[in-house]
Amino acid sequence: VSVDGFSGYSRALYANWLWHRPLQLLVDAGEGLSLALGTSVFSVSVVAITHGHSDHVLGLPGFVAARRFGKGATAKPYTILYPEGSPGVTTMRESIAGLWPGVDFPVTWVPLVHGSRHALGSKRTLEAFAVVHATAEPSFGVRVIEDRRRLKAEFAAVPQAVVERLARQHGRDHVMEHYPHVIMAHSGDAMPIDRSLIDRADVLVHDATFLEPTDRREAIHASSREVFDLARDARVRTLILHHLSIRYDRPSALATLRHQLSASGFQGDAWLLDEAAFVNLR
Ligand SMILES: [Zn+2]
Repeated sequence: VSVDGFSGYSRALYANWLWHRPLQLLVDAGEGLSLALGTSVFSVSVVAITHGHSDHVLGLPGFVAARRFGKGATAKPYTILYPEGSPGVTTMRESIAGLWPGVDFPVTWVPLVHGSRHALGSKRTLEAFAVVHATAEPSFGVRVIEDRRRLKAEFAAVPQAVVERLARQHGRDHVMEHYPHVIMAHSGDAMPIDRSLIDRADVLVHDATFLEPTDRREAIHASSREVFDLARDARVRTLILHHLSIRYDRPSALATLRHQLSASGFQGDAWLLDEAAFVNLR
């Protein structure tokens, strides 16, 4: 099953990963990843690890092994982006080195800090941003931005023919401006992320471990109620919630999510990724 090019798996504390085939981008690498991806392991160009908690990194050894020893393009290079200084990712790299001593893997490991950018093809850029989550593990969200052009606001009411003449006279940049369009943003595990990062994003994938802010004891995970409001305020097109706590009975949690969604006034599509299923919340 896939929504907007995404497939994935989410079970908090067990395994979380999300695969976006059009961008050849994998976000996180929970257990079971390489089995679920099958031959698609060879389509992955970039793996972005949001943080080093076990449910987001335990699939890394299996993934690099499938890419190196499986049946397919085993020499094809790929990149793993990870939070600089992450204890969890360091542990996984040591496991990989210990399991397969002397083996060269065609992988480039690139540490991320807040604001790090990595090109995805020629038109798009992945950007890491710091989020509020764990204290022992540096934690990031990622967003993919595309450079787009639009008419400057001051020309909005000017007739088309006049705009075209001005562009011929003074050049296109006189009437047009560049702006970053957000193709997708992924919060990783996090408290609600900054709205300015996701203005009019095509897709927002956000932590919704809790249903209500009052259900949480520590300020390390968002609630669905907060995320619906965030998606509404940022005018996101498609929202995918993930990481819903296993404490919640599913039928009643879905009823609560649907009620919160309609009460929030968020107009976009809304889904819950629950284990391997995308559940439509409309
Ligand atoms: Zn976490």
